[in-house]
Amino acid sequence: PATALQVLRLSTAAEASSIHGTHPPRVRNLIGGEFVESQSEDWIDVINPATQEVVSRVPLTTNEEFKAAVGAAKSAFPQWRNVPLTARQRIMFKLQELIRRDMDKLALNITTEQGKTLKDAQGDVFRGLEVVEHACGMATLQMGEYSSNVSNGIDTYSIREPLGVCAGICPFNFPAMIPLWMFPVAVTCGNTYILKPSEKDPGASMMLAELAKEAGLPDGVLNIVHGTNNIVNNICDDEDIKAISFVGSNTAGMHIYARAAAKGKRVQSNMGAKNHAIIMPDASPDATLNALVAAGFGAAGQRCMALSTAVFVGGSKSWEDELIKCAKMLKVNAGTEPGTDLGPVISRQAKDRICKLIQSGIESGARVVLDGRDIVVPGLENGNFVGPTILADTTSDMECYKEEIFGPVLLLMKADSLDEAIHIVNSNKYGNGASIFTTSGVAARKFQTEIEAGQVGINVPIPVPLPFFSFTGSKASFAGDLNFYGKAGVQFYTQLKTVTQQWKDAPGQGISLAMPTSH
Ligand code: NAD
Repeated sequence: PATALQVLRLSTAAEASSIHGTHPPRVRNLIGGEFVESQSEDWIDVINPATQEVVSRVPLTTNEEFKAAVGAAKSAFPQWRNVPLTARQRIMFKLQELIRRDMDKLALNITTEQGKTLKDAQGDVFRGLEVVEHACGMATLQMGEYSSNVSNGIDTYSIREPLGVCAGICPFNFPAMIPLWMFPVAVTCGNTYILKPSEKDPGASMMLAELAKEAGLPDGVLNIVHGTNNIVNNICDDEDIKAISFVGSNTAGMHIYARAAAKGKRVQSNMGAKNHAIIMPDASPDATLNALVAAGFGAAGQRCMALSTAVFVGGSKSWEDELIKCAKMLKVNAGTEPGTDLGPVISRQAKDRICKLIQSGIESGARVVLDGRDIVVPGLENGNFVGPTILADTTSDMECYKEEIFGPVLLLMKADSLDEAIHIVNSNKYGNGASIFTTSGVAARKFQTEIEAGQVGINVPIPVPLPFFSFTGSKASFAGDLNFYGKAGVQFYTQLKTVTQQWKDAPGQGISLAMPTSH
């Protein structure tokens, strides 16, 4: 499969203007509408996690190149903000059509660089595509408000105006969906953009930028710079960047939130998670088992909404046996292999970290009822594979519970009552998502009311809302107050202006220095 994949990959790379045809190909920056090769001396290998093959090389963009990208975005802004809103929407209509056209290419690139299965990679693209579709309705989403005659002959109305240059910093786990959470909403509101893809899998962002260009997005409206900490710090510090969207780990997210806020920027920061499922004794067995297995091990656990902890109320033995049976049937292989359920994790370091956390769980008293650490995939012995792993009798003082594992590891816990289970979930510092599995409306309603998580599932394992709502992580999973996409996403990327107007024929009533009121 590696050879076939390589051939396919090179043929897509050869067509792509965003990749230079050297071996391994060099990923370009996008500055002012041109795909340009960085002059940097420092490059990072983008590695196929199933094969360890170097897919491409990504630059640590220089400070001058970064300045040029911000300059291009800044000079494109005055013209772009004045492009009629309907014309900006039309570019999004075209973009969604082009993403559909290139769905397979995008998915193959994601599988090659990130590792997830082709079907899951299509889901990655599709969930991002839905945000592009949502941006097609910006004329309604961006509407202001109007109040007539707030005082005698005076009306007040509000306008949502673009901010200027905005920036997005992306994680590795959804190489298409997360860039698409960011720039389509921002640019359709009239902003210009600097995107910093994950250095681990920049390919999908480059393909999306090519499609945006083909859809008619003018030069300089979307710019892409690659790199790591230095470029991120430049984004936080730059006076011309007004807002930052971040998705990734807590270490990076809290650093960016503080550093950018010190420069007066607005920031929305989606971060780590530990998502729990509470399973009531009356839960429907088959549907619940399927949900736990799919949400626990899908994408090799590398989803911020992965279900990583299952809390069983009133006994877990029968669930445990069934879970092991189902998890054992999952097929671990390269994401390009038909029938694969789990691909590799992103890097050797990620695999080592996951294995260490499993080991620490065992050492502190958890029972490993399924151990995927020693899995070997024939022909891909160097791949970063971790098989489905289940740790039973986990308790909340264990490191494997406190840390986000971000791998195919499901922790099992027990609680005597729903109250105790809710207490466990609420004591966790993260608040991205939580689900309950039950046939009792009373239990579901209590859970919905008392649970301290931003995204709540009732018999739904990964309750990520579609773009007409927002992605609403809370507690340590989010910093900022305006969430990604939905109404909040539009508010994040726009500045409210209020206009108060007076048109009267009546003659002036003399000067009054008192505060105007409507008395
Ligand atoms: P990461 O924080 O390592 O990287 C994210 C981005 O930040 C990258 O572009 C990287 O270059 C940059 N970065 C990393 N360390 C930095 C530092 N010290 N200073 C400045 N910039 C830095 O995250 P990742 O490993 O790519 O992604 C996995 C994490 O993302 C997990 O914690 C996962 O839960 C989280 N995530 C959250 C959501 C959500 O919506 N809440 C969605 C997807 C992923």
